[in-house]
Amino acid sequence: MSTDEPSPIIVEVVHAQAEGDQPPSRERTRSNNTCPRCSSHYRDDELQAELRVCRTCGYHFVVGALERIAQLADPGTFEEAASGLRSADPLAFVDMIPYPERLAAATAATGLEDAMVVGRAEIDGHRCALATMEFEFVGGSMGSVVGEKFARAVDLALEDSMPLISVASSGGARMQENVLALMQMAKTTCAVDALNEAGIPFISVLSHPSTGGVMASFAALGDVIIAEPGAFMAFAGRRVVQQTTREQLPDDFGLSESNFRFGLVDMIVPRHELRGTLARMLRLFAGGEFVYPVEEPPAPITQSRIARLVRGVRWRPHGPSSTNGASS
Ligand SMILES: [Zn+2]
Repeated sequence: MSTDEPSPIIVEVVHAQAEGDQPPSRERTRSNNTCPRCSSHYRDDELQAELRVCRTCGYHFVVGALERIAQLADPGTFEEAASGLRSADPLAFVDMIPYPERLAAATAATGLEDAMVVGRAEIDGHRCALATMEFEFVGGSMGSVVGEKFARAVDLALEDSMPLISVASSGGARMQENVLALMQMAKTTCAVDALNEAGIPFISVLSHPSTGGVMASFAALGDVIIAEPGAFMAFAGRRVVQQTTREQLPDDFGLSESNFRFGLVDMIVPRHELRGTLARMLRLFAGGEFVYPVEEPPAPITQSRIARLVRGVRWRPHGPSSTNGASS
């Protein structure tokens, strides 16, 4: 029997931030428009004119929902839909502050009702439904309003038989709405399925950051998935994955470049080329011709040319085409 005093048990409580509220560290420097990679500093109007891409090093700053529409849509063509939707607070949720106060503060800061703006637009004369996200609104989190707005954007695309383009910028599901937020993953997934069944294209653009429940639902379901350079995309952040798997993660974990390498992302498109790329896809989806950047028409397609083109291509087996719900 020992007379020694038992050593006290010290419990350290670490208040980890929710993934959805955890802007990546470079986010914090956005307010002063200083590039976190090369420290170049810009006036806001300069940065806006450069599409919020650093002139010196090409770093892509986060873009808000309305500014993104201005970057992509032809001037004067965007017609907002599903405006006036507001989150209720059925759980009477309080984190640091009551949820309604958090929403009011986000509205005051951004001028938006929630973290998504949807509507009809034209890009280089091609009609589409457009849904953009606002990271500054409670971390771009998806609650019942974002889910409903995305579903309404899908309705627009179905009504007018036009492609849907979404631009994700989100920390994931909105914790303050709990299960109501999680249900939006199923809701938006079903909405994308309706597009598939109708044979309407869905182009998903992943900007920094595209994480959590948004990445685990509609954002990863595009027929074409385009990522901006250096964007972080994952279900959970680096720290959570590292703690769960107890493995050392590579430096490029979750970035566009590694997701492209693993095949989740179809293409990485710098922001200055995004509008042109989307316009080209809309033209192709509308049955238009691919416009080659050279004057000469492409060489005629012959069997020997096809054989040459596919030489070295390894065909990867895919599941039966019916599994993705697409109809031809
Ligand atoms: Zn820079």
